[in-house]
Amino acid sequence: MVRVIGLTGGIASGKTTISNILKELGAIIIDADKIARKVVERGSPALKEIEEHFGSEILFENMRLNRKKLGNIVFNDTESLKKLNEIVHPYIVEKIIDEINRYRETYNNRVIILDAALLIELNLMNLVEEVWLIVVPEKMQLERLVERENISTDQAQKRIDVQIALEDKKKYADLIIDNSKDLAYLQAQIEENWERIIE
Ligand code: ATP
Repeated sequence: MVRVIGLTGGIASGKTTISNILKELGAIIIDADKIARKVVERGSPALKEIEEHFGSEILFENMRLNRKKLGNIVFNDTESLKKLNEIVHPYIVEKIIDEINRYRETYNNRVIILDAALLIELNLMNLVEEVWLIVVPEKMQLERLVERENISTDQAQKRIDVQIALEDKKKYADLIIDNSKDLAYLQAQIEENWERIIE
């Protein structure tokens, strides 16, 4: 049985949708997004470093992170984004490794899914037994992102462009999931592979 699967794909490619299907089938989910939010909680060492670099104007009065303000800075300036990533990525990776180790011990005989947009960027492939990559045509990814976030096409395109191109990620994938069709088609692919990995 495959124990840990890394699920990845671009922004708005369907990671949450697929995680939910896998959870229904019995998997335990580690959500890297949730971890990424947790590492910048009020009073955290990562948030302290962010404040030191970007200034206290990226904090609300209650000392929580103003994500919108920081997002506006980093999605309009690649150097700032690079700096932010240098600050937060080590904290995120540390927490993900902790969780995988803890879950491997705690949940014997369960499949664990690491849902991480940046699985490949953060070089986490060797923590998992299989990498599942979600593939969606860019135009469709853009449409789904605009609709879900209620942002402009331009803003959405910027968020897509900062990620490593899908083509370059394919070489790391053990399985390619095609999410260019309806949900029933997606569900069928996941169920088929679920049967395979729990054997
Ligand atoms: P993010 O990277 O931002 O966390 P994500 O990869 O988790 O996004 P989802 O939120 O699962 O992506 O999907 C993006 C949007 O596309 C959602 O609104 C979702 O409902 C929709 N969506 C996903 N798959 C399909 C599909 N096969 N058909 C129609 N809509 C879909």
